[in-house]
Amino acid sequence: MTEATQGGQPGSGDRPTILCTNDDGIHALGLKTLVDIAGRLGDVRVVAPDREQSATSHSLTVHRPLRATRTPEGFHVIDGTPTDCVLIGINQLLDAPPDFVLSGVNHGPNMGEDVLYSGTVAAAMEGTILGIPAIAISYSSRAADRIPGYAGVLTQLVGALIGRGPFPEETFFNVNLPDIPAEEVKGVRVTTLGRRVYSDSLTRREDPSGREYYWIGGGVSSWTGREDSDFRAVQAGYVSVTPLHLDLTNYRLISEVRTWMLGG
Ligand code: MN
Repeated sequence: MTEATQGGQPGSGDRPTILCTNDDGIHALGLKTLVDIAGRLGDVRVVAPDREQSATSHSLTVHRPLRATRTPEGFHVIDGTPTDCVLIGINQLLDAPPDFVLSGVNHGPNMGEDVLYSGTVAAAMEGTILGIPAIAISYSSRAADRIPGYAGVLTQLVGALIGRGPFPEETFFNVNLPDIPAEEVKGVRVTTLGRRVYSDSLTRREDPSGREYYWIGGGVSSWTGREDSDFRAVQAGYVSVTPLHLDLTNYRLISEVRTWMLGG
């Protein structure tokens, strides 16, 4: 574990290559900030969805062709999901695998079990599956105008994390920023995933012709969780950093479930 070049091209220079993506689409303010901080830390590549893909989780587009185009700045744009972007970016569009994948900065929090629905987190997960150290970053409010103010805080934080690369096996990092101006941030806390308590987030109504429809989302969400959980850190004005692991196996239960299956 010497140089942070896992998945990259050793000897390609001191500056790492950083692939930036998101789930809010190529025009999102949060992606501009991500590109800004990545450019302070390395050579930037961008492969992002052409439109918002929030809550697409880890989905791949397999029932239609995908098209990639380029912006005048040289960014790649794909009419697919964040996972499509990382997969096609790393395997087809970039001339060499990147040293790191950064995803975000998402317009909205990705804490607790929301990491399982998040396209932002899934893009970092896809990088990890492909052997590239990855970090997902989210701002804990839909009001994104404070995100650019976090460029300095994030450059320091992401710089410290990628300085530790390559990351432990199957591990990536989920960062959430508090909904306060960057100058008021109290510090960084290393956290566990909290639990989201949904209320009124599923709506049933009638359309103008009298047919029922359902709308997922909205409503008020509250949280529970341990003292060291992500939402408590963010609520208290800290940046939350949660190490996540790809392997969902419940190892503590393995031997007990064996006795259920095999008799014991
Ligand atoms: Mn999003």
